[in-house]
Amino acid sequence: MKTLLIAEHDNHTLSAHTAKALTAATKLGAVDILVLGQDCEAVAQQAATLAGVSTVLLADDAGLANQLAEPCAEVILSLASEYQGIVAAATTTGKNTLPRVAAKLDVMQVSDVIEVLDESTFKRPIYAGNAIQTVRCNEPIKVITVRTANFEAAGTGASAPVSAVSVNLSAALSEHVEDTLSVSERPELATANIIISGGRALGSKEQFQQVILPVADKLGAAVGASRAAVDAGYAPNDWQVGQTGKIVSPQLYIACGISGAIQHLAGMKDSKVIVAINTDEDAPIFQVADYGLVADLFEVLPELEQQLGS
Ligand code: FAD
Repeated sequence: MKTLLIAEHDNHTLSAHTAKALTAATKLGAVDILVLGQDCEAVAQQAATLAGVSTVLLADDAGLANQLAEPCAEVILSLASEYQGIVAAATTTGKNTLPRVAAKLDVMQVSDVIEVLDESTFKRPIYAGNAIQTVRCNEPIKVITVRTANFEAAGTGASAPVSAVSVNLSAALSEHVEDTLSVSERPELATANIIISGGRALGSKEQFQQVILPVADKLGAAVGASRAAVDAGYAPNDWQVGQTGKIVSPQLYIACGISGAIQHLAGMKDSKVIVAINTDEDAPIFQVADYGLVADLFEVLPELEQQLGS
């Protein structure tokens, strides 16, 4: 089975999502990576180093600069007859483009895959992660988005050939207006190795910043938050972890003053090591925690920061 993996990138740098999605895609068979964008030759060269890639296809065109679903789907569809699988990371871009591809091919998409059992059988979460569904897909082309947090990144060191794809886009159906991106020096939440998250217990935006951020800085961690903390304005929206926020699985997740509602657990329970700090020993977060500390976060976090040194 030959599979086409759609690269995740910003026209300059290949995202870590691609190496993880590649691990899922290689379980389906031989994999070509398709880089869609403008002036993105450097991304194609980075993709070519990923272990397990047969060929990198480069579709470089001004109409693909912002990776809108319509032009990207058009290019993918022009190549689809060569493949039995089309895979993308379940990111904003992947979730935007692949349903259009699936609809145009008149096949059912399998979304949010967390495990590939064989080339037709996949596991995916349902009911906010409270149950895992095993799905058999009998479509002639499998169109799949994968939750990259569940897959290790493929290695590097390969040098696959890069081949240009001719692009002849139809008249544009959609128009890119602007990107409003938050700029942060911290690691990206979705791919961070360590995450420290704060909940409603932080009490205010100022306290969130005074207590959580210094520890994050010492650990080189990304910062997350519960929805209650986000809704109360203690933390920005894009820090939310959970069913309606980001799905993460870092090596270490530190939940501070977070009760552990199922909607929060849906976003972080696959973390390798979970540490919970909560004053309530009956808080549900302790049921998923590897290490639990029944304590006041306002006491232990400053202490932890001091212990971590400079
Ligand atoms: P609380 O539940 O109020 O918990 C605060 C915790 O802090 C308590 O356990 C308390 O014991 C502890 N505490 C208090 N003081 C201290 C202290 N000084 N030191 C240490 N601990 C202390 N939630 C998400 O997080 N992400 C989502 O994506 C999400 N999606 C949702 C989608 C839907 C459709 C719905 C209905 C809800 C969703 N929620 C989500 C909300 C979720 O149900 C919870 O309301 C939310 O997670 C609670 O946030 P919290 O744990 O910060 O607050």
